[in-house]
Amino acid sequence: MKINRYLPPLVMWLVFETIALTLWLTLNNIFYLFNFSYIGTAIAAGLVLYEQKKKYARNAVQFAVGLYMLVYLGFLCRENMQIEGFWYYLFLGVFEAATIHYVIAKILGPLLFGRGWCGYACWTAMVLDLLPFKAPSAPRKRWGKIRYFVFGASLIFVSLLFILHVPNKGEIMWWSFIIGNILYYGVGIAIAYKCKDNRAFCKYICPITLFLKPMSYFSIFHIQVDEEKCISCGKCEKVCPMNVEVPSNSRKKKNATECILCMKCVEECPKNALKL
Ligand code: SF4
Ligand code: SF4
Ligand code: SF4
Repeated sequence: MKINRYLPPLVMWLVFETIALTLWLTLNNIFYLFNFSYIGTAIAAGLVLYEQKKKYARNAVQFAVGLYMLVYLGFLCRENMQIEGFWYYLFLGVFEAATIHYVIAKILGPLLFGRGWCGYACWTAMVLDLLPFKAPSAPRKRWGKIRYFVFGASLIFVSLLFILHVPNKGEIMWWSFIIGNILYYGVGIAIAYKCKDNRAFCKYICPITLFLKPMSYFSIFHIQVDEEKCISCGKCEKVCPMNVEVPSNSRKKKNATECILCMKCVEECPKNALKL
C-alpha cells in the first residue's frame, strides 16, 4: 500500500477540519463543527474509495454531500442554498449557512480544489451524472451566455425584494429554493437529453460558474500531463465530460476552467501520463 496515494484524502479532511474548528470557535456555533466535519469526512472517504478503485466512489460522495445539503440544510433547516440564498444573506449582512457555503465551496475553495464542488458535491449534478450521456458526443454549443442572464435574474430578484421592502422575505426565499431546484432539475434533464450531454446544464446555464470559473483558473489542484509519456492518442479528451483540452499543462488551455476533477481522463490514459 502506497501511503502517498492517501495523501489527497488526508489533506482534504484536514482542510475541512480546520474550517470546522475555525468557524466553530470564531462564530461560537457548534453546528459548523458538525457540518464541515461531515462534509470533509464524506469527501475524504470518497477519495479513499476512489483510490481503492471502487467504481461508484464519486457518485457516493455526490449523494452523501449533495443530499445532506439539499434535504437537511435546504428542506429541513429551510436554508436557501441556491444562489438567491447567497444574495439574500449577503444583503442581510449575515454571515450564515448560504454565505459561508458560497465563500468556501464556490469562491475561495476553488483556489485550492478548483471545481471539486461540481465533481463531488453539487446536488444538481448528482442527478445529472446518472443520465446516460457521460461524455458529450458533439462539440460545445455557443450557449454559454445564458448563465449571465440566470445570474443577473437571481440578483435582480433578490434586490427587488429589498428595494420594494417586500414582507415575508424568509418565506419567499424558502419557496424560491423549492421552485429553483425543481426548475434546475427539469431544465438540467431536458437540456441533457437535447444535447446528449449530461453536463450541458453546467456548461450553458448554471449561474454559479460565474464564481467557479475565474477562481478555479488559479487552482492548486489540477490535472497535469507528463509530456514525455503522452503519445497524443486523444483518449483522455474523448471521455472528458467537460470538453477540456486535457493533455496540456497550460492554464489557458481550452475549457481549462471547466474541469470538475472527475478523474475520468486519468483512468483512461493508457500511458499513465496524467495525474492530479
Ligand atoms: S456547474 Fe452548477 S450545476 Fe453544474 S455541478 Fe457546478 S454548481 Fe452544480
Ligand atoms: S475528464 Fe479530466 S479534464 Fe475532464 S473534467 Fe474530468 S478530470 Fe477534468
Ligand atoms: S490519454 Fe494519455 S497518452 Fe493519450 S493523449 Fe491523453 S494524456 Fe496523452
